[in-house]
Amino acid sequence: MDPEHLQWMKEAMAMAEEALAAQEVPVGCIFVRDDKVIAKARNRTNQLRNATRHAELEAIDEILADRSLTPEITTYPLSTTTLYVTVEPCIMCASALRQLGIKKVFYGCGNDRFGGCGSVLGVNESLTHPAHPEYRATGGYCREDAIMVLRRFYITENTNAPLPKSKTNRVLKTEINPLLPNETFTS
Ligand SMILES: [Zn+2]
Repeated sequence: MDPEHLQWMKEAMAMAEEALAAQEVPVGCIFVRDDKVIAKARNRTNQLRNATRHAELEAIDEILADRSLTPEITTYPLSTTTLYVTVEPCIMCASALRQLGIKKVFYGCGNDRFGGCGSVLGVNESLTHPAHPEYRATGGYCREDAIMVLRRFYITENTNAPLPKSKTNRVLKTEINPLLPNETFTS
């Protein structure tokens, strides 16, 4: 792996760890422009009680609200910006990224329930669109770390659910099958 990608993915992983500590589904991301992190964010859906508050959209809101990062209204404000995110963007985020003209995406593990960069739907490049440019999304960067932080979350969640499933006997699996790209969102 290109050491530069590894460095950025580690910063995204740190945001996923922050989400885990806040009892959110642990997904984190950073946006990089001209070799600098211009925004970093994590999933905040529980805290804000808003299912759209994924890490990517949280960071995008920051970028668009900051005049120094988005000095003028432009069709594709992310055209020189690369996203590093721990999990493949969902269909909603993949579409938002395309509408804003993201340059490129690197992600950790696939998202077989909601993935918008090929796992469920290829919003990034397989679907044709009359205007919005396609973008390349490449997975497999810090994939095992991305999967393990999700497993650590799912093994402890639901203790406050109305009908909690007993997870007391669950054991954290540590082996990762390279042939199964998407064993992530399990509930
Ligand atoms: Zn999303």
